[in-house]
Amino acid sequence: MAFDLEIRAADWRAHLATTHAALPGLVPVVKGNGYGLGRQRLAREAGGLGLDLIAVGTYEEADELLGAFTGDVQVLTPWRPFSRRVADPRLVHTLGRLEDIPALAAQLPGARVLVEIETSMARHGFDRHRLTEAARTLAEAGLVVEGLAMHLPMTGGNLDEARMWCAVLETSALETTTVFCSHLTGPQLEQLRTERPQLTIRPRVGTGLWLGRLDAFSVRATVMDVHTVQRGERIGYRQGRVPRAGHVLVIAGGTSHGIGLEAPRAVTGVAGRGKAAAKGGLAAAGLALSPFTIDGKLRWFVEPPHMQASMVLLPEGATVPAVGDTVPAQVRYTIASFDTIREA
Ligand SMILES: *Cc1c(COP(=O)(O)O)cnc(C)c1O
Repeated sequence: MAFDLEIRAADWRAHLATTHAALPGLVPVVKGNGYGLGRQRLAREAGGLGLDLIAVGTYEEADELLGAFTGDVQVLTPWRPFSRRVADPRLVHTLGRLEDIPALAAQLPGARVLVEIETSMARHGFDRHRLTEAARTLAEAGLVVEGLAMHLPMTGGNLDEARMWCAVLETSALETTTVFCSHLTGPQLEQLRTERPQLTIRPRVGTGLWLGRLDAFSVRATVMDVHTVQRGERIGYRQGRVPRAGHVLVIAGGTSHGIGLEAPRAVTGVAGRGKAAAKGGLAAAGLALSPFTIDGKLRWFVEPPHMQASMVLLPEGATVPAVGDTVPAQVRYTIASFDTIREA
């Protein structure tokens, strides 16, 4: 009992199943911190949905998950000559530069690859004018092309761009009719399939799948200690003055759990503090709002979170929790790390 996540498993799995049914060809993305839920757990769930393919972020993750998942594993990060060498017939690489084609073929003859194109994201991938050359080089190198990969922005309006890339694919000499894409809605995917029935369109989805039903998650942080404080008393690593009398709660959950790593809530700068002062909040004292709800309200950090605990001010008059009680906490899942994850 510390900084814990409880998943209402039936609701969460119902959402996974609904999403799977709504998105034909779904490729679950399992990367990073496993969207806060853990990569191993997500790989098991993908297997449970009967899926034949997952996408991971890095070769290190691929190495780990080839053991946890029995289907194919795509690596989203394009292959580079300095990538970790992972030789497995179930692995599918991503290529985005001409010079990497012969280099990968030399290291792993006959490897399975996706050809990534540089979309408006401008992250990785071939320039559209190099695709024909890429197709020829791939054929000469004897690599097996299993699809075109396009990573689209999250701002919407992606259908036109996806259409354009499908047209580019059809005029290139690439020997594939499969397109892997991100950030298109269900109706946009359907539209694309209607317009291009000869293509197999496969959406790669992480957030909408794993984190699409946040009400099935409950994050609870345990109160580890409670101290009475006077206004003006100096406390904490930084020996700052407590702006108000009340209680300081030491709550499980710190930077190692991803707490306080998000800037937007903190009010900084003279103008910001001025505005906050006008509103009468503790932001005026330079405090930042914590993600912990105590006695019905989000409360303020007394100082920046510590590695595994946070010090939070509960002003006089509020109901004081006891040591061992738990309080709800808001998290950003893609940076969160929990002490335990329990299914209920
Ligand atoms: C992370 C990632 C995705 C999934 O993004 P979500 O917003 O989590 O659905 C899809 N494609 C690529 C290339 C990615 O890196």
